[in-house]
Amino acid sequence: MSDKISLTGLNSTEITETLGLSPAFRGKQIFQWIGKGAESFDEMTNLSMAIREELKQKAILRSSSVTKVLRDSDGTIKLQITLKDGLAVETVLLTDKEDRKTACVSCQVGCAMNCAFCQTGHLGLARNLEAGEIVEQFLYLEKHAGPLDNIVFMGMGEPMINLENVRKAISILTDKEGRALSGRRITLSTSGVIKGIYDLADNGPNIRLAVSLTTADKDFREQLMPIGRTNPLEDLRKAIDYFAKKTGKRVTLEAALLHNKNTTEESARNMINFARGLDVHINLIPWNPVAGLPFSEPTTAECHSFLQKIEQAGINVTLRTRRGREIGGACGQLGKTLLDSQGNGKKLQNVNYQ
Ligand code: SAH
Ligand code: SF4
Repeated sequence: MSDKISLTGLNSTEITETLGLSPAFRGKQIFQWIGKGAESFDEMTNLSMAIREELKQKAILRSSSVTKVLRDSDGTIKLQITLKDGLAVETVLLTDKEDRKTACVSCQVGCAMNCAFCQTGHLGLARNLEAGEIVEQFLYLEKHAGPLDNIVFMGMGEPMINLENVRKAISILTDKEGRALSGRRITLSTSGVIKGIYDLADNGPNIRLAVSLTTADKDFREQLMPIGRTNPLEDLRKAIDYFAKKTGKRVTLEAALLHNKNTTEESARNMINFARGLDVHINLIPWNPVAGLPFSEPTTAECHSFLQKIEQAGINVTLRTRRGREIGGACGQLGKTLLDSQGNGKKLQNVNYQ
């Protein structure tokens, strides 16, 4: 582990102050290079050789490294990124029909929320990612795929549990002096941490929100997603309403469809009742298989029939196509390469979420 300062988690003022740079615009120059994807100080050609040498002694530009690259013929790219302490996360690039590129980034190593249908949930949680470690995922994906259009916090982990570092990463990526990504192109996905939804609505940043509803069948949701026991559906609905009204932004409700579990007539009715009156868009995601879990993929007919029921009730709804099948799936299936490389499906050290 290097004891040099890692710069990806700092804005230009912080770079100037931390490195004691003079004049102050040096920090801005370095910050601009980082946003452009520079991985070495020697790429920073508007800095003198002497300054570059001095910087190399004090700082590093990346604290993590790419240790595996998987490519699917549908354009999906998955990177395994190893962190400074040897732990690893996965990050994914998704390309849609219009050729728009979206980074699906992780915010934690594993996840403590323990959702029954999710690969990451079965890893447990090792630790939160630092802001720079989140920024680096985005920069590595841009290196592999060219400029990206969107960023979604739908990789490993629950962003509301690491909100301060997620905020900092967003402030760096949206900074006008750096990568200057638009907040309209950023989505945070939560399993339903109500306090976090209010916090985001009241304190920003001004980004989009997705909530993993999965099902509006109360008891079944509580079984599938333990967070539902302390953050109940009625209160979650109020928080979503508050967010949509406060920010003027439509909220996405995500639902991973599990064969014969949350696709029934009654499930459709419950979902319609939950969504009615809210400014939401429902995104149905056929569940991606995870070995060893007691669920199976829904059939295409089952997904379409569920979609139709919601549509007929006049609710905005779409069915997402499966991505990244050849490389062990995309969002919601992350962690497989870590289990493989850490051996014997060993769980990460578990931390309980209260
Ligand atoms: N922790 C956050 C964000 C990461 S999970 C959250 O739960 O919202 C990203 C999305 O993948 C969630 O909507 C989750 O419900 C979904 N998901 C999890 N496992 C899945 C699987 N095996 N197949 C399809 N979607 C899955
Ligand atoms: Fe964590 Fe999201 Fe997976 Fe639930 S669905 S275990 S919150 S990553």
